[in-house]
Amino acid sequence: MASSDVINPATGEVVRRVGLASLEETDAAIARAQAAFPAWKAVAPGDRARLLRRFADAVDGAVEELAALEVLNAGHTIGNARWEAGNVRDVLHYYSAAPERLFGRQIPVAGGLDVTFQEPLGVVGVIVPWNFPMPIAGWGFAPALAAGNTVVLKPAELTPLTALRLAELAREAGIPEDVFQVLPGAGPVVGQRFVTHPAVRKVVFTGSTRVGKQVMAGCADQVKRVTLELGGKSANIVFADADLEQAAATAPYGVFDNAGQDCCARSRILVQASVYDRFMELLEPAVKGVVVGAPGDEATEMGPLISAAHLAKVSSYVPDDAPVAFRGSAPDGPGFWFPPTVLAPVRPDDPAAVDEIFGPVVAVLPFADEDEAVRLANAGDFGLSGSIWTRDVGRALRVSRGVEAGNLSVNSHSSVRYWTPFGGFKQSGLGRELGPDALGPFTETKNVFIAH
Ligand code: NDP
Repeated sequence: MASSDVINPATGEVVRRVGLASLEETDAAIARAQAAFPAWKAVAPGDRARLLRRFADAVDGAVEELAALEVLNAGHTIGNARWEAGNVRDVLHYYSAAPERLFGRQIPVAGGLDVTFQEPLGVVGVIVPWNFPMPIAGWGFAPALAAGNTVVLKPAELTPLTALRLAELAREAGIPEDVFQVLPGAGPVVGQRFVTHPAVRKVVFTGSTRVGKQVMAGCADQVKRVTLELGGKSANIVFADADLEQAAATAPYGVFDNAGQDCCARSRILVQASVYDRFMELLEPAVKGVVVGAPGDEATEMGPLISAAHLAKVSSYVPDDAPVAFRGSAPDGPGFWFPPTVLAPVRPDDPAAVDEIFGPVVAVLPFADEDEAVRLANAGDFGLSGSIWTRDVGRALRVSRGVEAGNLSVNSHSSVRYWTPFGGFKQSGLGRELGPDALGPFTETKNVFIAH
C-alpha cells in the first residue's frame, strides 16, 4: 500500500506514516458502505439518535486527545483545536435530534391519500481539506448519518489523524464499521472515485474553487447530488462611525486566526477614507501583538502554515516590493512560519486583493462611501463571509443586504454557529452546511399517492 508522511508543520518533523488507499481499496470501501446502507436506513429513529448521541459523548471524552493530535498534525493552536473537537461533539448532538424529526407531509388530494417521505440517499462521499480537518468532517458526516446515509470520508493527505481517530470513536460508540469509514488517500484517486462511482449518491466537498468545479462537473455526469464549500476573499468593512478601537483590536482575529487558512478569513479590510489613518494607527499594535509560536502553548494565538508548499504560495503574495505597512513576528523555523502581514494601501485589482491567499496576509483598501464599500466587497468571484463595522443600524442593514455573501456579521467576526446555515454565494460554494438547512439535501423527497 502506498503511504505518505504526516508532518508536524511547527517543526517539519515526521509524526507518522499513513497508508493511502488505492482505487481498488476505494471501490471496496464504497461497496461495503453500499452493503451497510439498507440496515442503517432501517435502524429505528430513536436507536439511530441514541447511537449519534453516544458518538457525541465519545468525542466529548476525547476532546483533549483530539485537540493534541490536531496541534501536532495541523499546527492549530491548542485553544482552537479544543474548540474544533468540541464543535464535532456539538454538531453530532445537534443532528442526533434529526432522526426522530425527519418526517414528511400529508397533502390534501381528492380520491385518496398523498404522503411524502424523506428518504436517505445511500452512500455519501465526504472530501475534507486540511485547514479544519475536524469540524469540516463533522459538518458532512453528522447530518449524512443522521438522515440514514452511510459515509465514506476522505481526509486531506496532509491531515488524516483526527479523522482516523473519529472513526475509531464512532465504532466504540456502536456505529457499525461500514456505516462510517475514513479512507485516507490522494484527492485525484479516492476523492475522484467518489465523483465517478455510481453507488456514491452525493459528494460533499470542501476545498479550493478549482477542484470544486471539477467535482461539480464530474458529478453532473450522473446527476449526482453535490454540496460545495469553496474559497473566499471576504471583506471586513469599517465605516467612520464604527467603534474604531474595537474594529482594529479584533481585525487580526478576523483574518489571522488559523494563520489565515480559513475560508471565512476577512482578508480584505475596507476602511472609510476619512478614518483610514486613525484605523491604521490602531491596527498596527494589534497586529504586532499577535502571539505567534508553538501551537501547543496556551498563550499562542497563531501557529504555522500547513506545509512548505503552502508557505511558498503565501510568500509569493508578498514580494520584496510589496506595500507592507507593518507586520508581526514569527519564528524562523524549522517549520512553516509566516508573520501576520498587512499590505496597505492595496489597489482593488492587485492579486493580494483578489486571490484567496489562505495565509496571514491582509490587504487594506480605502473607500469613500457606502456604495463604494458594497461595490468593493462584491468585486470578484467569491461570496462567503464578511464583517460590517458601524454604529448605524440602518447602514448595517443596508450593507448586509447589499453584500453578496452567505455569512455576514455586524460588529463581530463570528462566522460559524452549528445551528445556523453556513455556505457561500457565487463561486464560494453551492448549498448550505450546518443548521436545519443542511439536513434536507441528505435526503430525497418521495411522494406516494394511495387511492381510496
Ligand atoms: P484542494 O481543493 O486541492 O483539496 C481539498 C480536498 O480535495 C483534499 O482532500 C484533496 O485531497 C481533495 N482533492 C484534490 N484533488 C481532488 C480531485 N481531483 N477530486 C476530488 N478530490 C480532490 O485544496 P489544496 O489543499 O490544494 O489547497 C489549495 C488552495 O485551496 C488553498 O491555498 C486555499 O486557497 C484553497 N482551499 C480552500 C479551502 C476552504 O475551506 N474553502 C480548504 C482548503 C484549500 P488531497 O489534498 O489529500 O490530495
